[in-house]
Amino acid sequence: MLDIRIEKTKTPKAKPAADDPLKFGTIFTDHMFIMDYETEKGWHDARIVPYGKISLEPSAMVFHYGQEMFEGLKAYKTEDGRILLFRPDKNAERTNNTNRRLCIPEIPKEDFVQAIKAVVKVDEAWVPEKEGTSLYIRPFIISVDPFLGVRPSNTYMFMIILSPVGPYYPEGLDPVKIWIEDEYVRAVKGGIGEAKTGGNYAASLKSQVKAHEEGYSQVLWLDGVHRKYIEEVGAMNIFFKIAGKVITPELTGSILPGVTRDSVIALCKEWKLPVEERRISIDEIFEAYENNTLEEVFGTGTAAVISPVGHLRWENRIMQVRDGSIGPVSHKLYDTLTGIQLGKLPDTHNWTVQV
Ligand SMILES: *Cc1c(COP(=O)(O)O)cnc(C)c1O
Repeated sequence: MLDIRIEKTKTPKAKPAADDPLKFGTIFTDHMFIMDYETEKGWHDARIVPYGKISLEPSAMVFHYGQEMFEGLKAYKTEDGRILLFRPDKNAERTNNTNRRLCIPEIPKEDFVQAIKAVVKVDEAWVPEKEGTSLYIRPFIISVDPFLGVRPSNTYMFMIILSPVGPYYPEGLDPVKIWIEDEYVRAVKGGIGEAKTGGNYAASLKSQVKAHEEGYSQVLWLDGVHRKYIEEVGAMNIFFKIAGKVITPELTGSILPGVTRDSVIALCKEWKLPVEERRISIDEIFEAYENNTLEEVFGTGTAAVISPVGHLRWENRIMQVRDGSIGPVSHKLYDTLTGIQLGKLPDTHNWTVQV
């Protein structure tokens, strides 16, 4: 149990208007959570303070060697006015998996969830209510020793900031165009691909820029060794439905284990849909496409929940999936997950946690 000190802002900001599109990651609430770590004291001084600038030495290790991690989850307002989190314990678990890989001290799971609940509670009036909106929660840890040598830091800051966000696809569930990367790779087995850390994103920017220039919204990564097995998309895991089976790449160490991915697999099993986690090559996807057995392609992640894929390009080959319409399984997954998140459907898996 953390003893969290709360200092409320004396100058609350104006909240966004009801018709504000809430562009992702641009608006921040009135407060933030901070907790410090020192080797002798452990995690200490948990506090909720007004959102604002922090002061760090230019020599702080995070700026030089990137020892940092982050998480992402959402709080949803239900029709009867409750605020629900979706599987925050999974984010707590993943935080510690990432921390172990990056030599960052672990945070007790209950403390992580308590901190999220506490800061969301303080800023509960910022949880937007309109259909498709939510409060995006961004926990992160940075290494702050003022030191230029290479070793794990002895001091850290754990912070949580909050951002009201609109629907990921304001025009509805529009299928996205995906660029299959053939030049760069994101991660390799033994690297940090399964850790949620900024370095993986820094490594991805070059391809993202290239894909955007070509008119594509996201990049699909292939494995770094053979350059032929499917890994994941930008900030989403990927699923294919081929001849009645739902298939997603197995977790081998280079792929981020998504909470949405895990939830989709659980729902497919519940619905008795055959679901396979296995190695899947890009050739197999093209073959299914040519045989007309590639039924659906979709990405999964907290931001968009389910993101149908309508078009993929690999070198000079193009796949046009379902003429750009959303597949029935993608649609049912989206409706079910958002239904549970918003408290409209029974939560038989005990996935939601009330703030
Ligand atoms: C966060 C993330 C995902 C999706 O994970 P969720 O827990 O479902 O939001 C997928 N891939 C990468 C690289 C990520 O950083």
